Amino acid sequence: MKKHNYSAGPCILPQEVFEKSAQAVLNFNNSGLSILEISHRSKDFVAVMDEARALVLELLGLEGKGYQALFLQGGASLEFLMVPNNLMKVNGKAAYLDTGTWANNAIKEAKLFGETLIVASSKEENYSHIPKEFTIPVDADYFHCTSNNTIFGTQMKSFPKTNVPVVCDMSSDIFSRSLDFSQFDLIYAGAQKNMGAAGTTLVVVKEEILGKSGRAIPSILDYEKHIKAESMYNTPAVFAVYTCLLTLQWLKNQGGIPTIEKINEAKAALLYNEIDRNPLFIGTANVEDRSNMNATFLLVNPEHQETFDKMWKEAGISGLPGHRSVGGYRASMYNALPLESVQVLVDVMKKLEEVIINQSQIAQQ
Ligand SMILES: *Cc1c(COP(=O)(O)O)cnc(C)c1O
Repeated sequence: MKKHNYSAGPCILPQEVFEKSAQAVLNFNNSGLSILEISHRSKDFVAVMDEARALVLELLGLEGKGYQALFLQGGASLEFLMVPNNLMKVNGKAAYLDTGTWANNAIKEAKLFGETLIVASSKEENYSHIPKEFTIPVDADYFHCTSNNTIFGTQMKSFPKTNVPVVCDMSSDIFSRSLDFSQFDLIYAGAQKNMGAAGTTLVVVKEEILGKSGRAIPSILDYEKHIKAESMYNTPAVFAVYTCLLTLQWLKNQGGIPTIEKINEAKAALLYNEIDRNPLFIGTANVEDRSNMNATFLLVNPEHQETFDKMWKEAGISGLPGHRSVGGYRASMYNALPLESVQVLVDVMKKLEEVIINQSQIAQQ
């Protein structure tokens, strides 16, 4: 039986993406060849890359606005250093918002390149909220933020207005909600959370911000070289890019970001309402900063853990335990997770409440 998959990443993808990509491994486009054995320079694969890159810009509303979409490798983690390598000027500085583990990892890499200013941090409160009062220096080479904090379950609901280029790690909420994406100059996201198989990283960059750092950039780390090579500077992660294309096509057929956003809001509302209503559970993130993608919550009484864990596993739920730095539970509700799966989890939470009430009544008799 197919599980209700709440894994934080790699994670659930649309069932049709699993089926079509499996088919392409056996026989791609009825060519008698597997997608895994054809040249990345073949007509059939170049078409995959071109369509995937175009669909990214179309779905984000960035067509004809000076942006390029690239499918690179090395994960979001490589972007942590590609960004400063390409954008931080020699003797320049960058501004970072510290909202969690991933933001911190990005800061660590930026420090290798030059002055890295942390404009605000919620570290003291174990990243349970998004800092909102901060100033970005006008002479910063760029400002970097993380739109969704996968581990701590917080999400930025608005972004600062600034004249410096804005860079955003959207690994865990890209294509999940409508935003004015033109407020960002560079967006990056590992594929494995809302887009496709692990192995490729989406980078969407406004071309005019490139070529200004004055630094030597190794070729494989140079966005301009990747753009010039139409995202084929070296052999791309062909299978991962293909799964991204299939997911983007699925998303477009659903009605694009506005449609999926409504479903994501309904899923998040269903689960957060239960977390707030059910006296056995408590959310860990500040209510106004709660993520619609990753809901983090705890059992008020940890003694109920064994019963709860048994119940959700029996209901066919997978991937619910929280990250070790937060504990408790994390329900990742990415685009492909159906509303029905959230209902199954909510039903288990309600059932746990009944079981616990019954137990305490029996104990009192
Ligand atoms: C998962 C994640 C990363 C790391 O991605 P990799 O592709 O594994 O390097 C970075 N940032 C955020 C927000 C993430 O959720």
